[in-house]
Amino acid sequence: MLFIFSENKNTPKKFTQMKKLLLILFLMITTSGAFADTYYQDSLKCPLCDKIFEITEMGSMSSFGSTYDFQKQGAVGDYYKLMVKSCPCCRFSGYTSDFLNFSNHSDTINLIKHALVKYDTIEMTDITECELAADLYKCLGRSKANIGQLYLNASYLLRSDSTKTNQRIQMQDSAAVFFIKALSMEEFAPNQIATIEYLIAEMYRRTGKFEKAIVYYDKAINNKEQADWIKEIATKQRILAIKEDDNNEI
Ligand SMILES: [Zn+2]
Repeated sequence: MLFIFSENKNTPKKFTQMKKLLLILFLMITTSGAFADTYYQDSLKCPLCDKIFEITEMGSMSSFGSTYDFQKQGAVGDYYKLMVKSCPCCRFSGYTSDFLNFSNHSDTINLIKHALVKYDTIEMTDITECELAADLYKCLGRSKANIGQLYLNASYLLRSDSTKTNQRIQMQDSAAVFFIKALSMEEFAPNQIATIEYLIAEMYRRTGKFEKAIVYYDKAINNKEQADWIKEIATKQRILAIKEDDNNEI
């Protein structure tokens, strides 16, 4: 590095330009905040009870790859925790867009109020917010893929909590159920199907259902519309299923 940044008046122009580029890259990597996750405060109005409450939104983040079940890694901070918002008054829960684009048809409101009763006495956590949002999505007839995604997000939040393994497995089971329903209802484009088959396989492997996992790894591997990376990754993960390895850390 000393050589690259040393000054020399005879340095060719091209090399000087390269130095500048390297300096910019160096500053991007070392400057505090360049790859950090940022947040901002905002407010939301609950469409059900009109309560206005403060929320924290993600401004930016930098993800570098993901786990084998697609959880973003890197400077992602509380990205998954902040996704689902919950009204502190009536507990209506969902993504910010669900608060902003709510259809206040009386039938919809009645269905939602009925679904919320179950949560009256339950302590709200990041996990129950996802579960409640998933229940509301069921009432609202939202896509099975969106419901599966909420359970998948909840499983990410439980990844490193060894005291809540059963709850994590429950979330992954539910994610698998809804992704399978989504496939049967043809909710995905043909070129997305292998990715979902692979994800279902991962849910089964992580919950110790190795035979079912292998069935779905094989579906993904043999899918003619698979993306290039699927065959390699699914084949690698399939070996774990054969070894009955339910590692959820990866
Ligand atoms: Zn509310």
